Amino acid sequence: MGIQKNLADLFLHLPPSVKLVAVSKNQPEVGILEAYRHGQRRFGENKVQELMRKQAVLPTDIEWHFIGHLQTNKVRYIIPFIGLIQSIDSLKLLIEVNKEAAKINRVVDCLLELFIASEETKFGLDFPEAQAILESKDYRSMHAIRITGLMGMATFTNDTTRVRNEFQSLYHSFQLLKKEYFPADQNFAEISMGMSEDFHIAMEEGSTLVRIGTAIFGERKGE
Ligand SMILES: *Cc1c(COP(=O)(O)O)cnc(C)c1O
Repeated sequence: MGIQKNLADLFLHLPPSVKLVAVSKNQPEVGILEAYRHGQRRFGENKVQELMRKQAVLPTDIEWHFIGHLQTNKVRYIIPFIGLIQSIDSLKLLIEVNKEAAKINRVVDCLLELFIASEETKFGLDFPEAQAILESKDYRSMHAIRITGLMGMATFTNDTTRVRNEFQSLYHSFQLLKKEYFPADQNFAEISMGMSEDFHIAMEEGSTLVRIGTAIFGERKGE
């Protein structure tokens, strides 16, 4: 009941240009299945173990997104099935993804995670670090990954001006990187920003992919 109504409400608010990732971390499989039955196919998880457990038992046409900090030693477990890794936060991680994807002849889509918040706890690259990756010899020789855009998380605050500024900075970074490194690449197109509390602002600032958990599933268990 709850999940169906929450999804229906969301679909009303999302224009066709904005894709929804239902963030199912810490949510039981039954909740994911309910969202699935009401048409949702894109789900986001932030822990490798939990993602693998769910992927093994849930429908195979789910498009799984990885949205949390990914350790290099766990990359190989998700490479066979992952739809999009949204949280590339180092060259080392990208090298590992490329290596594991190449082994099984996959090309894995990735977003660079940019640090836009003022909180110390969030992972992500600053703009010069993102540039350094895109200019590196390592990156230029990769054939098993494709960078399709950027992801960012705003500061957890009621200060909507600040949140808006942070989203604007991600949008700006996207435009700069696109111009400099992907001028003719139609695939570099995603700006993943916006969560349950701030997705309206994110959409006004150019989001193409919103990551929404609690507004669909309710509060997470065990938090
Ligand atoms: C948990 C999480 C979300 C979803 O957060 P909600 O506030 O539940 O919508 C989105 N993005 C990332 C990276 C997350 O870890």
